[in-house]
Amino acid sequence: MATPFDRSSSSVLVIDDSRAIRRIIRATLEQRRLFSAYHEASNGEEGLSVAAAVAPDMILCDLDMPVLDGFGFLRRFRAVEANRSAFVLMLSGSGESRNKVEGFSLGADDYIVKPCDPAELCARVSNYLRLKQLQAQLERQNDELERKNRELAALATIDPLTGLHNRRYFLTAVEGEVASARATSTPGSVLMIDIDHFKRINDTLGHAQGDAALVAVASTVRRTLRSSDVVARFGGEEFVAWMPQTSAADGAAIGERIRAAVASCRIAGVPWTVSVSIGSSSLDLDAHEPIDAVLARADAALYAAKQGGRDRVVSASGVASVRTAA
Ligand code: GH3
Ligand code: MG
Ligand code: MG
Repeated sequence: MATPFDRSSSSVLVIDDSRAIRRIIRATLEQRRLFSAYHEASNGEEGLSVAAAVAPDMILCDLDMPVLDGFGFLRRFRAVEANRSAFVLMLSGSGESRNKVEGFSLGADDYIVKPCDPAELCARVSNYLRLKQLQAQLERQNDELERKNRELAALATIDPLTGLHNRRYFLTAVEGEVASARATSTPGSVLMIDIDHFKRINDTLGHAQGDAALVAVASTVRRTLRSSDVVARFGGEEFVAWMPQTSAADGAAIGERIRAAVASCRIAGVPWTVSVSIGSSSLDLDAHEPIDAVLARADAALYAAKQGGRDRVVSASGVASVRTAA
């Protein structure tokens, strides 16, 4: 929950060429403890430099002053972006309507005719402080909402179990990567990676152990790839990777590196070797095909890897993957 605007830290600047009036206003405001800091200036020019130095929350400004009058002050003060939120109350001996209109059009928030009733002045100032408090609360709530939205947006792209990206993120991100690969005629390859006999882990060791194995394999896959590769959990116990600037032959070789890394990695709590089957495919730069077509070829190659006995890489383009003995 947002903490309320802290009145005790608000400051006011009184701009008036009459020292006596400045003193009366200050005494009036101080009596009600409306501000913690008081600043004074005797004309608009001085007011501008004090305001620039102390950034007051509120300004009470006389109209008729030597050097630079209230209108001149307002015009130059409001021209600065950072000064737009400060509250400016004009205090003037003139109650003429055209002066009030001019003041408001130059950015005054309120206008009081002097001599003014101290109770009315304080009531208007208090009202402003209440608005300021609400505004500060709204700003804090807004910040909080923005932070939560950013968190949610990040969560919507991440698989909570493995911390890898999810399928939705992968498809969106890779669509853009494929477009730029095509535009620059650079190759790109895809790997579909499926854990072999994963059901056996669930069935004999329990679902929690299955989850732990998924996390372990995901981290091996991520570690083996470059940071520029897009890796995601595509579904259940299946992972997918997009490797930019990677030819079909290189893609198959990287697939082999992943296969070997998983096969040589002992997974805590699993008393047998876990392996993966991998299908690799690459982008046909002449075909103008969507990423789905590249994925479908990798999927068919993965199927062939399963059919061929698992724990192997099959390349859709027929290039040999380099399988080195473990
Ligand atoms: P294959 O070698 O043919 O790929 O066999 P497999 O057992 O790995 O494949 P199958 O598709 O028969 O089984 C996959 C299992 O993965 C079934 C499903 O319950 C399990 N699974 C899917 N998602 C999760 C998960 O998040 N956690 C756990 N523990 N298991 C999951
Ligand atoms: Mg499987
Ligand atoms: Mg599967």
